[in-house]
Amino acid sequence: MTLAESSLDYVNSLENWIAGLPAMPLAGIVANPQNSAVLCVDIINGFCTVGPLSSPRVQGIVPPIAKLMQSAYALGVRHFILPQDTHDPAAVEFASYPAHCVRGNVESQTAPELSALSFADEFVIIEKNSISSSENTALDTWLDQHPQVNTFIVVGDCSDLCTYQLAMHLRLRANSRQLAGVRVVVPADCVQTYDTPVEAASRLGIPPHPGDLLHAIFLHHMASNGIEVAGSLV
Ligand SMILES: [Zn+2]
Repeated sequence: MTLAESSLDYVNSLENWIAGLPAMPLAGIVANPQNSAVLCVDIINGFCTVGPLSSPRVQGIVPPIAKLMQSAYALGVRHFILPQDTHDPAAVEFASYPAHCVRGNVESQTAPELSALSFADEFVIIEKNSISSSENTALDTWLDQHPQVNTFIVVGDCSDLCTYQLAMHLRLRANSRQLAGVRVVVPADCVQTYDTPVEAASRLGIPPHPGDLLHAIFLHHMASNGIEVAGSLV
């Protein structure tokens, strides 16, 4: 039996799982807004509109993310944490990906739809130099300084890379510290990844990256590890 054949039932179940993800009421999740934070990873020009890693799929989640942030702000949430690629010009990561989102470049700037929000000056930008928001960044210091924050809404890109790493870091940090009240919530409509089909990848000499499959698998993997995956937050 081939891998495709032995995986068919799982892939079909994933599709049904994604389609059945519930819309959850945002007001219930951020019932204590001072204890809640929205973490938005890599919604910057270099993944949305400009440069070799920009993707229309990622650009497509910018409007729902902006709307979610506005709704959260209206409910009293004041913690908006934005981990963002701000790469060293000679980043070691560029051995795996084409050069992108270098410090000072337009690619590393927050998407205009977010920086236009009336409360954008309250954003906490966390610079990062890898797909991890927590390795060698200011994130853990912020978390240590805000121990009352126990509800984390995680959005951004890419589902299988930075978003996954960030959501899992928050979940595992809480698990390892026995923080029973911590919730990590990921709305699927505010998360996405890029798509490089096998045919295009072989033509371009780059790794294939099936966007729909990896998006689904990694969301499901998050859910399997205690992260609350919703269809949307309304
Ligand atoms: Zn990067």
